[in-house]
Amino acid sequence: MEILLPILIVLVLIFGFGVVAVNRARTRRRGIDNEPPARPVERSATPAPTAVLEPEAPPVEVPPEIEVEIEEALAPVEIEEIEVEEAPLEVVERPRFRDRLGKARAAFTSAFTSVRSRGGITEDTWDDLEDALLAADVGLDVATDLLDGLRDRVKAKEITDPEALLDALKVEMKDRLGAADRDLQFEPQPGSPNVWLFVGVNGVGKTTTIGKVGYAQVVDGRSVVMAAGDTFRAAAAEQLQTWAERAHADFVRGSEGGDPSAVIFDAIQRAAARDTDLVLADTAGRLHTKTNLMEELRKVRRVAAREPGRVTEVLLVIDATTGQNGLTQAKQFTDATEVTGVVLTKLDGSAKGGIVFAIETGMGLPVKLVGLGEAVGDLVPFDPDEFVEALFA
Ligand code: GDP
Repeated sequence: MEILLPILIVLVLIFGFGVVAVNRARTRRRGIDNEPPARPVERSATPAPTAVLEPEAPPVEVPPEIEVEIEEALAPVEIEEIEVEEAPLEVVERPRFRDRLGKARAAFTSAFTSVRSRGGITEDTWDDLEDALLAADVGLDVATDLLDGLRDRVKAKEITDPEALLDALKVEMKDRLGAADRDLQFEPQPGSPNVWLFVGVNGVGKTTTIGKVGYAQVVDGRSVVMAAGDTFRAAAAEQLQTWAERAHADFVRGSEGGDPSAVIFDAIQRAAARDTDLVLADTAGRLHTKTNLMEELRKVRRVAAREPGRVTEVLLVIDATTGQNGLTQAKQFTDATEVTGVVLTKLDGSAKGGIVFAIETGMGLPVKLVGLGEAVGDLVPFDPDEFVEALFA
């Protein structure tokens, strides 16, 4: 028995050393196996540095308290939703037509000055007026119609002097714009958001217009979702997002090149779920001469009108500086999307303000809003009286 005990201890020691040696050998083997496959050697002009072999590091033991900390860090954390109190939007001041229509007025001023400079109404008077109306892009039909009516009244001696003629022209111009319904249609119904679609070619000011309209609607107490339906331009979505943040509006975008209808439908469903009043949807404006864009817009219009959405406005955005060219666009977009009204942007920088007449009388579309500058408050309801007055003085 006394001899057996030391022998047993010696045997246990030998077995122990054996196990440790085998484990070490396995660890080394695993380290080699886990290494990535060797890369092909790149030939280089400079000799490769000599590899320095580090002595093998002893296994790192993680103390139990650190293990607990790691476990805690990896555990799922409950996220608390914090309602951010947003400061109310500032009500911005509306610019006056008179102050912003300097360029459009200039188209008429010199003609009116020469009309006034004559003692009576002569053939030159009619030429001056016709030239001014055409230069302002009123369009030949409208210009002829306006002047023919006035000629009859001059012949009938109803109008006898140049000043009275200009007054009569002003009244005629106001009358031509007077009848249209320019209100933006909104039909409140819980769970069924109104959808206002914005269509038009790139660069006319669509995104900026949606931003300005959204801001004004939020100031008026409506809740708004902006939908980045122009999925072909990432920049458009980013620009719209900035406007949405500024206007305290919700925002929905899709993947680049994705289906615009899907993005808009998503925004409508989100609006319905949250009882949001209004979805303002941007659309693509590229390739307006190709049928596929018009097909795309047709689809957008159909999808937007599906429950729970209700399309109450399709607003065609036209750049006033493009003058009569804008009308060709208007026709195509109207055919595809049943346009309900026009937003005429950049009237502040345009000498072709007469396009308003061509749009209203030629196309039968009401100009509902006009852009008088780039700032958030520079989109205003179109006021025909104020507009015509601004052209005359
Ligand atoms: P989109 O491509 O149709 O979406 O056009 P944007 O909204 O990006 O506008 C194009 C440019 O027109 C921007 O620089 C706008 O600031 C500018 N813009 C838009 N509306 C007006 C306006 O009423 N007046 C002026 N002066 N610039 C405007």
